[in-house]
Amino acid sequence: MKILVAIDVHETRTKPAARAAIRFAQDVVQKTSGSFSIALVGNRINEAVAAVNGFGAEAIYLLDDPQLAGHLAQPTTTALVHLQRQHNFNLLVAPDSTTARDYLPRLAGVLSAGMCRGVCEAVTRPEGLCYKRNVFSGMVTRWERITSPLQIVSVEATAVGEPRKGTDAEAIPLKLNLPSDARTTFIETRRAHSQRPDLAVAECVVGAGRGIKSAEAMSKVEELTDKLGAALGATRAVVDAGWMPNEYQIGQTGKSIAPKLYLAIGISGAVQHVAGIRAARTIVAVNKDAEAPLLRVADIAVIGDLGKIVPRMLELL
Ligand code: FAD
Repeated sequence: MKILVAIDVHETRTKPAARAAIRFAQDVVQKTSGSFSIALVGNRINEAVAAVNGFGAEAIYLLDDPQLAGHLAQPTTTALVHLQRQHNFNLLVAPDSTTARDYLPRLAGVLSAGMCRGVCEAVTRPEGLCYKRNVFSGMVTRWERITSPLQIVSVEATAVGEPRKGTDAEAIPLKLNLPSDARTTFIETRRAHSQRPDLAVAECVVGAGRGIKSAEAMSKVEELTDKLGAALGATRAVVDAGWMPNEYQIGQTGKSIAPKLYLAIGISGAVQHVAGIRAARTIVAVNKDAEAPLLRVADIAVIGDLGKIVPRMLELL
């Protein structure tokens, strides 16, 4: 199979999910034989080459243009269609990022390709290569097959491991003549400034649930988060209550996380929340209810009132 891994570059950096997409391509190559190349998409992307090199790609194509800075669906699609028409790849892989969720369906439409979103594994079955997907918060596993000559998949980052080391590839800049008739234009990005690590990639995450009923308890949880050098996350109940902004939400309709340690405080463990923490290595749950569902998936349960346990944890750290 001839595979292209499309990776978006944001301000000279690739996101950790890009590594999962590369690993996925490596696994498909191993199962079907063939090769994979990488397309870096963005503006001023040369510095990002090092992050994706050394994994055995055949080539690294640089799709570099000011119109690609904002990762809008229209110019991104045009650039990738240009590359696809030159090389005729059989499989196009991208991380299941917000960016890819926006442009991949358009790309699939323009190239008349079948598409599977959020796949976690490629499986060889009698009927051919199939894609495994976990849906309904991981309660259901599905296998899907794409029958068009070009297949497009996005990869669920937390379900796939790190890429294996391989040979270096040559970086090849592409001449893109993107049309200037864009119907949407990118203006600017503004980020919320936080000293804490990014929730999606943090090694340690503290999650706050509805059990934290007061501002005083919340400030203790934040203190604990900072003492651990952790990222702060929350359940939807907390976000819906307006205690924390939307971007902190972990779960099915929020972020998926894969920290080494997830400390869940006052969280019941609804399936929609657990869907976002499946890849966490060690889960510690603080809850006053010994029957809370989260305790069934937690590695360590601390049963008691968080109003007493969190200050005690702070004392001990
Ligand atoms: P609760 O379920 O109210 O749990 C609070 C917990 O705190 C309880 O277990 C309680 O025992 C404990 N507690 C209370 N007081 C104390 C105390 N003093 N000390 C110690 N423990 C205490 N939820 C998400 O999180 N993420 C999602 O992405 C998400 N997506 C959803 C999508 C859909 C379509 C739907 C229908 C729901 C979704 N939800 C999601 C909501 C989900 O179903 C739950 O309602 C939510 O996760 C509950 O949040 P919680 O655990 O904070 O609150």
